[in-house]
Amino acid sequence: MAIQTINSATNQVVCSFEEMTDPAIDAAVAQAATAFDAWKTTAYPHRAALLHRVADGLRAQKRALATLITLEMGKLLAQAEGEISLSADIFDYYASHGAEFLADETLSPAFGSAVVRPSPVGVLLGVEPWNFPFYQVARFAAPNLMIGNVVLVKHASNVPQCAIAIERIFHEAGGAAGLYTNLLLSGARASALVGDPRIKGVSLTGSEAAGASVAAEAGKNLKKSVLELGGSDAFIVLEDADIDQAVRWAVVGRTNNNGECCVAAKRFIVVEAVADEFLQKFKVQLGQLKVGDPMDPATELGPMSSEVAAAQLAEQVQRAVHDGAQVLLGGHRVAGPGAFIEPTILGGLTSAMPVYYEELFGPVAAFCRVADEAAAIVLANDSPFGLGGSVFTQDVSRGQRVADQLDTGMVFINHPTWTQADLPFGGTKGSGYGRELAALGIEEFVNKKLIRVSALTDPF
Ligand code: NAP
Repeated sequence: MAIQTINSATNQVVCSFEEMTDPAIDAAVAQAATAFDAWKTTAYPHRAALLHRVADGLRAQKRALATLITLEMGKLLAQAEGEISLSADIFDYYASHGAEFLADETLSPAFGSAVVRPSPVGVLLGVEPWNFPFYQVARFAAPNLMIGNVVLVKHASNVPQCAIAIERIFHEAGGAAGLYTNLLLSGARASALVGDPRIKGVSLTGSEAAGASVAAEAGKNLKKSVLELGGSDAFIVLEDADIDQAVRWAVVGRTNNNGECCVAAKRFIVVEAVADEFLQKFKVQLGQLKVGDPMDPATELGPMSSEVAAAQLAEQVQRAVHDGAQVLLGGHRVAGPGAFIEPTILGGLTSAMPVYYEELFGPVAAFCRVADEAAAIVLANDSPFGLGGSVFTQDVSRGQRVADQLDTGMVFINHPTWTQADLPFGGTKGSGYGRELAALGIEEFVNKKLIRVSALTDPF
């Protein structure tokens, strides 16, 4: 895949970048290994100070960085500014709480004393997606730098300017060379890099195919991997839900980030008693969205991230219809240049149609009617994915009961799946393994080292 900025609102190529050569990559990995030797000996307050300065740098350059995001992957400018703020919050969060999360755990063995002391493992590789070009990097880099690891980041090939900007912000914040390194290279070369003995672990956020490739390399080389992959979140509406509130969140949940969100609400599972009311209101509100230039503050739905992504989603819609699904709203590409798709609702999907089990990564909602709560749970779990999900009901204990029965890493009651620095994020089944964010997110690439002081008497 060429490393290029393409404005997906016009499909014009803005600029192209050369991939790094093998010797340049080798030098970058060597520099990271050297940086690790120094960084691992620094104290937590020193590391925290760097992370706070990175957060400050992000906030100070918010508008310029957000403009880059919007240019490179089509996110609405206001949402891109929100992403920069969230990313800064994540750096501040780990700077403020990292030392507490990484404190020694004192054990009470049968004799003598012992502690578990978290210690760093070394140079890590992060393979990151384009859909949240700063936030995804923040949730990998911030906890790992706090532990004392150093990071190499292979970003998606369609957001090179964002990738370069993040590395620059680290340098401006006073980060030593090698602490945070951007690698401009293709996905296939990133997989091969996992075998480099100087790299101790890999974290990938992206598709199942890329995750499987990286995890296979990691397994072959006995290294740990963390995978945050796709999702097909169920959005369950029970008969006692506040329907107006559910519809408002349904629109946000499906169209946030132009629908290109791993935890977007993708399957709207509504019990029969309220299905007509929900569908009628959902159609009206989705259909009224103003589609257009993501730089224009009046726009409510921007283009998809690339022409390829838009063509793929349009093909999924056509295939579903060919197999017998109904288009309840939209269903077409928007006329004119750019990677635009109309907000769309598909009905009548059945498990005999391949699309039923696929992720719809854009503004296309799958609408499903079910008889009752039990049927909603069965349908929600009939997915290869297990990332997030949500339940709408005015009875919170009922919502918790449903949440207990969903096979996903996250469930939200009366809200679409969401994220913030202090909530753990991750999935199960085909959505990957491991967690990012919150205290759990700092534990993935840590050597939990036991230090034991023996009793003077020999137990044997
Ligand atoms: P993708 O093609 O897998 O790309 C993600 C990253 O993986 C990019 O940096 C890409 O590089 C790289 N890559 C591609 N093939 C690779 C390979 N064989 N070996 C190593 N790296 C490889 O994913 P995408 O389609 O752009 O991103 C959308 C997917 O990510 C969706 O499925 C979405 O649900 C998922 N996602 C998940 C989460 C989560 O937290 N669970 C968050 C966001 C997105 P190139 O760009 O150079 O190909």
